[in-house]
Amino acid sequence: MARYTGPVCKLCRREGMKLFLKGEKCFTKCTLERRPQPPGPHGQRRARKVSDFGLQLREKQKARRLYGVLEKQFRRHFEAAERRPGVTGENLLQVLEMRLDNVVYRLGLADSRPQARQLVRHGHIDVNGHKVDVPSYMCKPGDELVVREGSKANEFFQVMQPQLARKQIAGWMELNTGTMTGRVMRVPLRDELDLNLNESLIVEYYSR
Ligand code: SF4
Repeated sequence: MARYTGPVCKLCRREGMKLFLKGEKCFTKCTLERRPQPPGPHGQRRARKVSDFGLQLREKQKARRLYGVLEKQFRRHFEAAERRPGVTGENLLQVLEMRLDNVVYRLGLADSRPQARQLVRHGHIDVNGHKVDVPSYMCKPGDELVVREGSKANEFFQVMQPQLARKQIAGWMELNTGTMTGRVMRVPLRDELDLNLNESLIVEYYSR
C-alpha cells in the first residue's frame, strides 16, 4: 500500500492551492502563504499560457494529492466512477469521498487526510464491528465507524475527543462525539462538497 512520503507543502505550492495536508498547521503556519510560487528553480518564472492538456493534468494531480491517492489507485477509482450510472465527474468525487480514510477525516476524527490514513493503517477504526485497516476501503450508506475500544485510551483520542463537539460534520454523515461513533448516512451530493476542483477536466484527461 504505497503512499507519497515526500514534502507535502511542496504539493500545495505546485498546485497553487491549499490542500490541507498538515492539519492545524495549515491554519496557523501555512507555507503556501509565505511562499506562493511553485517549487523548484523555475518557480519564479513568469506564468506561461497553459495548454488544455496542462489544465487537465493539473486538475487530476490536484484531486489525487488532495485525497492522497497514487496514480494507479486513482485510475482505478476513475474506472469505478465510469461504470456507475450518472455523471462520471461527480461519481469520481463520490468514490473518493467514500474512501474510509476520507470518511474518518470528514467525521473530524483526524485533522487531515494523511492523519486519517495513518489512523486507519494503525488499526484504530472498526467498520460495522470489524477492524478495517485499508484506507481505500469503500464505505457504504449505513456503515458505522467507531474508534476501537482499545484505542480510546490512546493519548491522541483523549486529546481529540473534547474537540469533536466544535467540529462541523458534513450533512451526509453523523457522529456521536461521546462514543466516537460515526455513521455514513448517504452518498454526498456535489454541492455538499467544499472542493475547489473542476472534475470535468479530470474526465477529459482520462478520455484523451
Ligand atoms: Fe499545504 Fe498545509 Fe503546507 Fe499550507 S501548511 S502548504 S495548506 S500542507
